[in-house]
Amino acid sequence: MKKLFLIIGAPGSGKTTDAQLIAERNPDKVVHYSTGDLLRAEVASGSELGQTIKSYIDNGNLVPLEIVIDTIKKAIEEADREVVLIDGFPRSVEQMEALDQMLKNSGDIQLLGVIEVVVSDETAKERVLGRGRGADDREEVFYNRMKVFKEPLPAIEQFYTAQNKLIKVDGERTIEEIVADIEKIIKEKAQI
Ligand code: ADP
Repeated sequence: MKKLFLIIGAPGSGKTTDAQLIAERNPDKVVHYSTGDLLRAEVASGSELGQTIKSYIDNGNLVPLEIVIDTIKKAIEEADREVVLIDGFPRSVEQMEALDQMLKNSGDIQLLGVIEVVVSDETAKERVLGRGRGADDREEVFYNRMKVFKEPLPAIEQFYTAQNKLIKVDGERTIEEIVADIEKIIKEKAQI
């Protein structure tokens, strides 16, 4: 049985960094996938699919449902550790529903928690514009990404709150504090 945790948060919330550090600290038990990094890897491969993905990422829009679900399915399938962390998913109600269906159809994956790393708009903006990762870290694109992030958030929060799976973590502290907090939650819930 794979124990799944999702880590969500605004652009610049630090969700990928946090999840990566937790996986590095627990290499035997935890594997991490970043949805954004997986999609960017496809772009970097130069494939036709990558070209399609790039057009969405560069404008700060969501990559189409089927592509994202395929990406997540592959990641979960190839995950060879007890605990699987995925950040940046779900980012829409339809993605959340598709995952729910996937979980219902699979006897092998158990969703144990959805961790939301919460930061203010101001912090998100400073971090994203400060890092300049790609075409999507420009100011106009950042505002669109924030809008795209926020629009489905209440529905996503409600859905996982009703299942008693949503945990909000204050993302305004030091990385060390945030990581320690999330790691503790994961270890308790996964009993590792
Ligand atoms: P950030 O969270 O800082 O925006 P990410 O690397 O998580 O950075 O996402 C970058 C871009 O990748 C998004 O703006 C979007 O275009 C695409 N992306 C990432 N995750 C998803 C997802 N779950 N569904 C659709 N598109 C996604």
